[in-house]
Amino acid sequence: MKTWEYAESIESSAIVNIEKKYGIFLDGEFQTANSKKFLKTISPSTEEVLSSITVGNKNDIDSAVDSAKNGLKIWSKLTGTERAKYLFKLARLIQERSREFAVLESLDGGKPIKESRDFDLPQVAANFFYFAGWADKLDISWNTKGLKPYGIVGQIIPWNFPLLMLSWKVAPALATGNVVILKPAESTPLTALLFAELCQEVGLPAGVFNLVTGDGTTGAALVQHPDISKIAFTGSTAVGKYIQNETAGRDIGLTLELGGKAANIVYNDAAIDQAVEGVVNGIFFNQGHVCCAGSRLVLQEDIHDEFVSKLEKRMQSLRVGNPLDKNTDIGAINSKEQLDKISSLVNEGVSEGGTIFQTECELPANGFWFRPTLFTNAQPSYKIAREEIFGPVLTTLTFRTPEEAIDIANNTEYGLSAGIWTEKGSKILWTADRLQAGVIWANTFNKFDPSSPFGGYKESGFGREGGRHGLLSYLKVQS
Ligand code: NDP
Repeated sequence: MKTWEYAESIESSAIVNIEKKYGIFLDGEFQTANSKKFLKTISPSTEEVLSSITVGNKNDIDSAVDSAKNGLKIWSKLTGTERAKYLFKLARLIQERSREFAVLESLDGGKPIKESRDFDLPQVAANFFYFAGWADKLDISWNTKGLKPYGIVGQIIPWNFPLLMLSWKVAPALATGNVVILKPAESTPLTALLFAELCQEVGLPAGVFNLVTGDGTTGAALVQHPDISKIAFTGSTAVGKYIQNETAGRDIGLTLELGGKAANIVYNDAAIDQAVEGVVNGIFFNQGHVCCAGSRLVLQEDIHDEFVSKLEKRMQSLRVGNPLDKNTDIGAINSKEQLDKISSLVNEGVSEGGTIFQTECELPANGFWFRPTLFTNAQPSYKIAREEIFGPVLTTLTFRTPEEAIDIANNTEYGLSAGIWTEKGSKILWTADRLQAGVIWANTFNKFDPSSPFGGYKESGFGREGGRHGLLSYLKVQS
């Protein structure tokens, strides 16, 4: 039967108000930067220029540190209850303005509105509520008398979940009494700039939240500043390694949340239709721009043909297109650079001998797009089975025994997440016990909760975000 055609249902972008040009946010207000350099942030689905943002330089980072020092004088005198009030206010305002944030996130980053509206924004608000709830309970819960905030924290975030990564970092840092200098990714700065407006609206003391937009040079200047007491970074393993080298030898806290190449293991006793849904969600959510994406399908050999045939049929129904259309499953690739990287890795997969399946959907004329892609007949040595593609590309590997599944799953330099699909609880526990991954889902994938710690093993980084462990990452033992 032919599927019915959908009618478009476009979310209006009239709700967002984007300035032509943005300065940086220091001392509680937007300011003209010392740097006179700007870069354009575009909508990756249309290539239309949305705004010009400042590329902060070393002098701007110096000014941000001065602002943060003043902020710290005020913030450190507040009780946990008083800090919590600001965080609760921010959480409520985020909820009130969630539609505006969701549209802005989809415009600037290319993700489908149904994800920014139904996943990112509820999670962002939940993070602020969760950490607000902790701010006045730190002493009584853990007797944190010997634990002190770091002070000025530098936070560098990527472009795949811009506002969500801001909330993962800013909320626990402020709850524990630190002040923040944030550097968002150059291709997705707009929701962080809107968040700065919210900080003004709730009357957050000047200098507690500081925002310096820019590129890698801005991030590097922040990392190099001697008065920064902690760096929290999410992004590529290459930049994570640079930051680790750069900060070696300094008395500085560091958490690195880096890449991944997660195995989504499907045993032959799994509920196949549910597993197909989970595998689709695991890799095609947010165009595959997800550090914990289930990008390696590790499939028991005797169900390979049936599973792949169901998976290809399901992939064929994914709707690729305008991120603001509420029917869209897969939006735009975040940037031309990322599209080039995905295309090059996929071409290598084909030349290495993988069998490629791509859906037949029509792609829009402008913007950056990539068809949902599945590789079968791949070997563990292929680049598509080893490197983080960070796009809508799934590579299948097969196994015969559970031991072999574990060997394949752990045969990676990463260790961020994994998935297990089986109807046997004992097999879930046996498998989870042997996987080297920070987060493991069973019979589901990509589920998040502010109370649950998230982070990796091996080259996926160290330190945890979320939950109690995430709070401890912002506290330092002082005896
Ligand atoms: P990066 O690691 O370069 O970017 C992450 C953040 O770090 C951005 O804010 C970036 O700024 C900043 N940055 C870049 N260089 C430096 C530096 N020398 N010092 C301090 N900060 C710096 O990721 P990319 O955006 O370049 O993506 C490249 C690849 O990384 C992707 O293809 C994907 O595989 C992986 N990636 C992984 C993510 C994850 O969550 N694990 C997230 C994003 C990417 P700017 O944006 O201005 O360059």
